[in-house]
Amino acid sequence: MSEAISGKLVIFSAPSGAGKTTIVRALSEKFPQLEFSISATSRAPRHTEQDGRDYYFLTPEEFERACAEDRFVEWEEVYAGTRYGTLKSELERIWRKGHVILFDVDVKGGVNLKSIFGDRAMSIFVMPPSIEELRRRLVGRATDAPEVIEKRVAKAEYELTFADRFDHVVVNDDLQTAIAEVERLVAGFIGA
Ligand code: ADP
Ligand code: 5GP
Repeated sequence: MSEAISGKLVIFSAPSGAGKTTIVRALSEKFPQLEFSISATSRAPRHTEQDGRDYYFLTPEEFERACAEDRFVEWEEVYAGTRYGTLKSELERIWRKGHVILFDVDVKGGVNLKSIFGDRAMSIFVMPPSIEELRRRLVGRATDAPEVIEKRVAKAEYELTFADRFDHVVVNDDLQTAIAEVERLVAGFIGA
């Protein structure tokens, strides 16, 4: 990664189903200078997802090669057998435009990115009101098979233990309240 190209980062992590995607979408509409980092993943696209928009979809072999070539800032095996990571080329692509990078990564990725980028990064943990509500939201979202939902719920308790390693924790109970809180934090950080 070229040291000449740099900028700020805003990092969001949460257990799957907490409402992170919903909140971050609202945020990116409010602040046009925020641009999503598109991650690479070794999982297959869901039916509405597009390569280069939602993720860079790589085969497990392509993902492995990118690791071996040191092309990732960070990567994690978020679910058994499925890897997700941020390519160095993605940071350069966004910073070159003068934009602030918006990250939607798993809890370990969030902690890692914060420790790599320090004060240039602000990390926010989106907290569900309860595990039961998290399950209800995943079922209601209807994007994952029941066994995938169970895997995600089972992981959530572990993920919640990471919350205090983030700069800020925002509880997503009432959605509009959570969005307003996040907007306030981001405006302060990027000086908008
Ligand atoms: P994540 O990105 O954290 O996995 P999503 O943003 O996809 O979560 O939200 C999961 C589901 O919960 C979606 O169907 C979304 O519409 C819903 N949701 C998000 N926030 C709330 C909220 N505050 N109250 C009720 N439902 C919510
Ligand atoms: P999904 O399969 O629902 O799209 O995403 C699964 C998880 O992978 C989410 O928790 C998401 O935050 C995480 N994730 C997506 N991209 C990255 C990444 O680049 N790095 C890491 N560490 N996690 C990621």
